[in-house]
Amino acid sequence: MEFLSLKPGRSVEGDEIPCFRSENKASNYVYLVAGTHGDEVEGVYVLQQLFDWLKEDEDVNLPFIILPILNVDGYRASTRVNSHGVDLNRNYPTKNWSSEAREKKYFPGEKALSEPENQFLEKLFQKYPPRIIISFHSWKPMLNFNGDCEKVAQFLESYNSYPVVAEIEGHPTPGSLGEYGPEKYKAPVLTFECPLLSEDVSLRKIWEENQQGLKELLLSNLLESK
Ligand SMILES: [Zn+2]
Repeated sequence: MEFLSLKPGRSVEGDEIPCFRSENKASNYVYLVAGTHGDEVEGVYVLQQLFDWLKEDEDVNLPFIILPILNVDGYRASTRVNSHGVDLNRNYPTKNWSSEAREKKYFPGEKALSEPENQFLEKLFQKYPPRIIISFHSWKPMLNFNGDCEKVAQFLESYNSYPVVAEIEGHPTPGSLGEYGPEKYKAPVLTFECPLLSEDVSLRKIWEENQQGLKELLLSNLLESK
């Protein structure tokens, strides 16, 4: 399918945040986002491969917004946080946003939506409302769903056998995209946690164990507008 480059966002350091929209328009969009945490190269790689496939594919016809790397400064520096030291996934203006961080790496910013990377995403949401957001991360492999997308998580689980979880026990995430999407836009969020690289786990392997499920998901009717 064909994609257009949208006007890129700007990071704290002024770098471009690339963003693409499928040529087909709709009243709401499937968001594919990676690199919210700059050191999570596994999720960035998986989305890059999926995007490359989509560009060649002619059978998928969903409307997409694709952000291959949201936290471009963090990606360049291999840090979870952006150049202000903020965890972008704790900085969304949810009702439960809190200025407290359990650990430094979860620093949520001085106030909600303080960061230019998230302001860019928010602008996109307003212009191109999300119907569902799939956000690629890496940690312990799991399919963490917020809002009405348990079926999507189960569909993927049938391919990759990652556990499907509604909430991660002992790991509250105030100000996360998973809280924000359903609360503000009624858009469910699937936080797709890839496994981490290790001696036995290469980027290639992570893609290989996920490519069929992800492609079949985009070819299924599960992401059609309700
Ligand atoms: Zn992450």
